[in-house]
Amino acid sequence: MAISSKGFPVQLTFDLDAETMWTSRNPENANRPVIMSQGAYGWKIGVPRILSLLKQYDVFATFFVPGLVIEQRPQVIEAILEHGHEIAHHSWSHAWITGLTREQEHDEMQRGFEIIRKVTGSDPVGYRSPAAEFSPHTMELLLEYGFGYSSNFFDDDSPYLHVVDGKLSYLVEFPFHWVLDDAPFFQYSITLPGRTMQAPSAVLEAWKLEFDMLYKEARAFTLAMHPQIIGRPSRIIVLEELIKHIKNHDNIWFGRCCDVANDIRPGLIQQYELQEK
Ligand SMILES: [Zn+2]
Repeated sequence: MAISSKGFPVQLTFDLDAETMWTSRNPENANRPVIMSQGAYGWKIGVPRILSLLKQYDVFATFFVPGLVIEQRPQVIEAILEHGHEIAHHSWSHAWITGLTREQEHDEMQRGFEIIRKVTGSDPVGYRSPAAEFSPHTMELLLEYGFGYSSNFFDDDSPYLHVVDGKLSYLVEFPFHWVLDDAPFFQYSITLPGRTMQAPSAVLEAWKLEFDMLYKEARAFTLAMHPQIIGRPSRIIVLEELIKHIKNHDNIWFGRCCDVANDIRPGLIQQYELQEK
């Protein structure tokens, strides 16, 4: 059974980490202009290329952006918003969450929240953690701040509602997996030993096959990308070919995560209540 009346939900998501992708791995990278320029490629070249592709195919998407990047690149954020895409919470500085105290994590949450409210006029609805991890406090913070969805967990490939302390919450999870992320395939730097770039055709094959099976099972499709990685010429073609492949299927909904979460939540609540009976 389909989970949304608007069609099979397809969530294209972009983590606009920019330079914070590198400073969060090592703060000393701030003094290495060439490493930093790998991050700058994201907002400078990647985002405009992605926006024009999404516009061409009339697709709406979600951008998870650290607060610091929002502060540093207001014109880039304005362009994303003008195109009708969603800005979601991705911490303040992209600090690796597992190394933070509760106070530091709260501060990252608060500052990221405030700047999104300032630039968009409303509270952020969704949250994706930097470095793909939660601390023992993260879930509590998400509920305290009233988030509507999270896109972090690996335990399913269809959206579900989080149950916290035995109680059903309103927090929709859009599950994540490395196979539906551009970084493991393409992220390469001389400072990240052991990483090799994959052929674009191999990635397109993996993403198409993931989509085909999820579509067949009437689940949902959430893809995580980074403008500094997917924004390269050979890779934006992968994304374009994937969009074309998906559009060849009936009854598809390319939705912003915030819209999809609101749309599917009542059905997920119902599903949970039926299971509990
Ligand atoms: Zn990130």
